[in-house]
Amino acid sequence: MKATARELFDLHVHGDGSADSRLSTKRAIARARELGLRGLAFTDHDRLTLLESPYNDFVLVPGAELSTEWGDLLALGISELPPAGLPVPELIDDIHDQGGVAVVPHAFSGELAHICMNGRVFEVIGVIDGLEVTSPKRSVDNAKARRVARENGKAQIGGSDAHSVEDLGRGLTACDGATVEGLLEAIRKGRTEAFARQ
Ligand SMILES: [Zn+2]
Repeated sequence: MKATARELFDLHVHGDGSADSRLSTKRAIARARELGLRGLAFTDHDRLTLLESPYNDFVLVPGAELSTEWGDLLALGISELPPAGLPVPELIDDIHDQGGVAVVPHAFSGELAHICMNGRVFEVIGVIDGLEVTSPKRSVDNAKARRVARENGKAQIGGSDAHSVEDLGRGLTACDGATVEGLLEAIRKGRTEAFARQ
């Protein structure tokens, strides 16, 4: 991957559809463009954001952060919300059937067991597409997520989990894809890089 060809995305942003977010859709897009990002994914809790980008050169990736019995799961590139209550492996199948990708956010944390999959990740490691490796949550073990992604050929995903404009862009995914499909393909192939920026 050529460093010069990299397109940057923040793939975990909470906007208008999250009660706990102070970030508006408009403000988030403006800030992402200011930072030179190619696009972002609004990933509100159990709510799918399907928005047309107002700009030709800026991509809005359909996304949602799904609550599951094992912890949170990011679904990117889907066209409708999967039925609630599906067992996680079936939920991942549903995401794939829709042409989307499944990414485990903040995978490992002893303290946040209700939202973090922890050991369950290994039950679906063969079918997930990536792991988020830039969580800003203090107790999350990003190094472990990175290692698990690398060892299993899964995409390393950067997202900020931003709930405010200041936090947007603090975690980024870099890849060669400049469109939603290009990005999803890079994730499926594990051809992404992820980094945190202050
Ligand atoms: Zn989140």
